[in-house]
Amino acid sequence: MGKPTGFLEYLRELPQDRSSTQRVSDWNEFHLRMPEENLRKQGARCMDCGIPFCHTGTLLNGMASGCPINNLIPEWNDLIFRGLWREAIERLHKTNNFPDFTGRVCPAPCEGSCVLGIIEPPVTIKNNEYAIIEKAFAEGWVVPNPPAVRTGKKVAVIGSGPAGLAAADQLNKAGHWVTVFERADRVGGLLMYGIPNMKLDKSVVDRRIDLLAKEGITFLTNTEVGKNHPITKLQEFDAVILATGATKPRDLPIEGRQLKGVHFAMEFLQANTQAVLNKHQNGNYISAAGKNVVVIGGGDTGTDCVGTSLRHGCTSVVQFEIMPKPPMDRAADNPWPEWPKVYRQDYGQEEAEAKFGVDPRVYLTTVKKFVSDENGVVKAVHTVEVNWQRNDNGQFVPVEVPGTEQTRPAELVLLAMGFLGPDQELLEQLGVERDVRSNVKAQDGVFTTNLKGVFAAGDARRGQSLIVWAINEGRGAARECDRYLMGATNLP
Ligand SMILES: Cc1cc2nc3c(=O)[nH]c(=O)nc-3n(C[C@H](O)[C@H](O)[C@H](O)COP(=O)(O)OP(=O)(O)OC[C@H]3O[C@@H](n4cnc5c(N)ncnc54)[C@H](O)[C@@H]3O)c2cc1C
Ligand code: SF4
Repeated sequence: MGKPTGFLEYLRELPQDRSSTQRVSDWNEFHLRMPEENLRKQGARCMDCGIPFCHTGTLLNGMASGCPINNLIPEWNDLIFRGLWREAIERLHKTNNFPDFTGRVCPAPCEGSCVLGIIEPPVTIKNNEYAIIEKAFAEGWVVPNPPAVRTGKKVAVIGSGPAGLAAADQLNKAGHWVTVFERADRVGGLLMYGIPNMKLDKSVVDRRIDLLAKEGITFLTNTEVGKNHPITKLQEFDAVILATGATKPRDLPIEGRQLKGVHFAMEFLQANTQAVLNKHQNGNYISAAGKNVVVIGGGDTGTDCVGTSLRHGCTSVVQFEIMPKPPMDRAADNPWPEWPKVYRQDYGQEEAEAKFGVDPRVYLTTVKKFVSDENGVVKAVHTVEVNWQRNDNGQFVPVEVPGTEQTRPAELVLLAMGFLGPDQELLEQLGVERDVRSNVKAQDGVFTTNLKGVFAAGDARRGQSLIVWAINEGRGAARECDRYLMGATNLP
């Protein structure tokens, strides 16, 4: 695969991003493209390692190692090296319905388990994937391909995030009539209203939805099943896929939580993307302009809040993280091919550092109280440092460090501390069983719920996760649904 000596000849190279200081003045994507000649060299670095781990997608130590949808990575690396781009997209689409999304925003567990990564920087797998799909769109190779034969069966997919879309795509390919229900005004789930435009341009989401619609899938927006679309109407379908996501946010019930200016991250991000798409005409969003912003939570959602606040023109931004700063290199208990739990700077932190001179993340710190001004608006936060100690039950817990209390100005506070599972209302109406974490109870790999003909996929079943896992689950639920409808299935 690739060029056997390629890894000896070529260094890892990624396309440059637009500069951190320039890109914060707009909402456009910040990754640039690389010339084809350089891309072919990156494909050539794939070293014919014999036993590639990059496409295994197994869970090691609780994290994905390798690609969760088992992308045939060494094969398309080789095809890129040889300039066979059309064959590369055909290979890529065999396992991944949406490389246009993963090529942009997947954290790339594949690269963490690349064999070359043991001794050298790994192959640029994610960027190679991005290059293949964008070349394919540019060349006009990605066109609607509706099924030749229809089975007459009808499937309802509830939720239009990556899990729902992957399930719909697969079931439509199998010849079933698929209707996707979405409560929001636009299709895409967190692809549309979670991940900001500068990471995933919304025209890229719409481009894919247009294809799916032309292939015969029906999309109904502003349609919330269980609210303005009663569940009794689901009886007209032969099967149902629940792909409603894990949209219930974790709260921070401390003094001052009710103050104006304290918001869940998703309230901020969703309204902002709506405003960006409406060209900021209605002004109906939470603005960070001229404010000291405090983001609570050091993960991806928090980073997106940092990047969005900078684009609004915030006065300052800080991101509190209760966990310690990760090590710069793999720790001894985190060996290859596990996902490397190491310090990384994401785009939002890069931009904040370029503007304010420091990485906005403050580790081992929690917020104890929100302080009000005379109008009931937040004006400051009280913080305290913590360290992690074992309690009497042997569990690690954060313990406050006396004397480390501080007050910071904050006119906007964004809670980005993760999600607690799917909204329960629809699940209760349907009578679907839940697991101990309130996710839909459906066995991994089988995706069947306690209700006959009802399947579950994505964050609704798995809990908050990644796009690539949502695609994996959507494909799997579609396969089992097809088996249920037809008695056998050819879906992978
Ligand atoms: C801010 C943010 C940034 C992220 N960034 C990344 C990233 O960079 N890379 C990555 O891999 N992952 C990222 N993730 C995680 C990723 O977006 C999710 O894991 C993925 O979208 C889950 O897909 P899903 O289809 O299961 O659910 P979702 O994408 O959440 O979609 C569920 C959809 O169901 C709809 N719905 C719910 N109930 C109903 C109902 N009753 N009727 C009709 N519709 C309903 C919802 O409106 C929603 O549109 C991010 C998440 C967030 C919040
Ligand atoms: S989908 Fe993610 S894990 Fe799979 S090959 Fe692409 S970047 Fe890697």
